[in-house]
Amino acid sequence: MRLPDILKKIEASRNDMTADVTAMIRMPAIGPLNGGKGEGHRADKVTEFLKDFDSVERVDVKDMHDPSVMRPNILAKKNGSGKGTVWIISHLDTVLPGDLDEWKTPPYEPTVKDGRIYGLGTEDNGQAIISSIYAAKFFELGKLTKRSIGLAIVADEETTSAMGIEHLINAGFFGPDDVFVVPDWGVPGGTMVEVAEKHLVWIKFAIEGKQTHGSTPQKGLNAFRVSAKMLVDVLDKLEKKYPVSDPLFRPPASTVEPTKSIATVGNVNTIPGYHEFWLDIRLLPRYDPDDLIAYAKELGAEWEKRTGAKITVSADQRTRSGRPSDTECPEFRALFDSISSVIGKGPEVVGVGGGTCANFFRLAGYNAYVWQTGGGSLHQPNEYCELDNLVSDAKVFATLFHKLCV
Ligand SMILES: [Zn+2]
Repeated sequence: MRLPDILKKIEASRNDMTADVTAMIRMPAIGPLNGGKGEGHRADKVTEFLKDFDSVERVDVKDMHDPSVMRPNILAKKNGSGKGTVWIISHLDTVLPGDLDEWKTPPYEPTVKDGRIYGLGTEDNGQAIISSIYAAKFFELGKLTKRSIGLAIVADEETTSAMGIEHLINAGFFGPDDVFVVPDWGVPGGTMVEVAEKHLVWIKFAIEGKQTHGSTPQKGLNAFRVSAKMLVDVLDKLEKKYPVSDPLFRPPASTVEPTKSIATVGNVNTIPGYHEFWLDIRLLPRYDPDDLIAYAKELGAEWEKRTGAKITVSADQRTRSGRPSDTECPEFRALFDSISSVIGKGPEVVGVGGGTCANFFRLAGYNAYVWQTGGGSLHQPNEYCELDNLVSDAKVFATLFHKLCV
């Protein structure tokens, strides 16, 4: 089982890989929360591709919102004689296609053109499903002398992960000797590997004043005016309270951004009695998101006292991030060297503000690394995956399996 022979076989599989991505994308895989029927048909199709494994286990989880839908998770393994498994984690589900008029080719009718496959879920996360299957494909059963090879192809990544990776982690499918690679974020050329994520907090500020006619502001309390002044002050104070820059992260500092707001009044000559705005905050893992929420509430109380408006501050969403994954261990070195040997140089090690399945592993105390090649088109109309990336990612994963399993 020489690595060069395996890599040659992967290179020769370009057309088969393209055909498999195409067949898979034809099966819609949208969760009930987004108005879909789940990933069942796509999971059946993908299972057809999983030949010659020691075991292929399907873990169906009843959907929490629509009990008539089962959310399928697939765990395929080639057993090694040593402890632990090298897992590649990919997900079956997609977001909605969005505005169909924006799609030049139909989202569920994959189209191969100019070295790309266009279709919904091709890059996110079809590329990872098929590249990981072909990475494992040419390793013979009974010949792995170290760790096992594992593919976890999961449901429910785009909404909650509760019926996907979180369920599998809680159900004990993974262990301390396992290695986790999550190809669900990447940059062109595959030149970055993600080892850390920021905490995510959404805070809503609701300001109640008193509505009145535009000509008599003294008779009311302009909630929009209070809101605007308060917003400037809150941004300033939060940025001062969380000043640290960590060069691991892109961007290096915590970020505090006003995003959603509401329409106020329907006409120009009414002073609005109510306003609300939201902040999207990505906090470096060294800080505590609960402290931030408490501080935002303090600022709300201060502004309430200062202006006489009633101000309610609430955390709409709070996702804690696990500690950054270890980059000194031999398993990370093996991944780093595998990427380097296929793409020609070692990737930069970064932290990001977005969230992936890897965070669930980090929260459970495991190291997890996020890497793939791409990052150009996910969650957009005319999503595509580059055939070169499909093949090259499979070679990286095969190299990693060879280092850690043979
Ligand atoms: Zn994804």
